[in-house]
Amino acid sequence: MAEALGRLRGDFPLEQRLRGEPKTVRDTYLEVLEHWRRHGRPPEIHALDGDALEQLAALDAVAYQSHGLGCYPYSATPGGITVTTGDGGPVAAMCAIDALAIPMLSNADSRIEATCSHCGKPLALESSPGGVANTDAIAVHYRPYRTSSLPCCSSLCDGITFVCAGCAPVAHADYLRLAEADAVARQFFAFQHAWLNVGPSAPGKP
Ligand SMILES: [Zn+2]
Repeated sequence: MAEALGRLRGDFPLEQRLRGEPKTVRDTYLEVLEHWRRHGRPPEIHALDGDALEQLAALDAVAYQSHGLGCYPYSATPGGITVTTGDGGPVAAMCAIDALAIPMLSNADSRIEATCSHCGKPLALESSPGGVANTDAIAVHYRPYRTSSLPCCSSLCDGITFVCAGCAPVAHADYLRLAEADAVARQFFAFQHAWLNVGPSAPGKP
């Protein structure tokens, strides 16, 4: 798990980037994230601090997408991986690991739906705030990533997908068991959960 977490943090150091930002930028970040968490859709861009938003986009902490402002793990582009939490409608996730983090952020029992990125078979799994319902039928493929000038959601995320057991080789460094991917997701996004729950002014610089 530690290896996969380190790999993801190396490819996309989201928390590290945000910790270096001033409070105004982090506050806007949490405003965007909280809107997604509460409503399952992007906030209106004009209602946000424009300068902070530009900085967040430059950091790739938010992304201007086809249907609005995306904020990892939430995607504003309809995609192949969706999460339905509690009584809300489905929301698209940026990638498979992002999808696994949403039940924790939403604090709700959730259903994740996707298709195997290798063979197209429909996949579904249940998750909750405490962890994913473990299944050997699904794994996560983490395709080796080369640094790109594109935002994470248009580069790295495309290579982090759910696959069915039949398509996942046993003991391959690029394939994570579901429980392992779930643990990586919860660690990677733990800072969001913490920041949202203690309020925006706690972490990082004043
Ligand atoms: Zn498959």
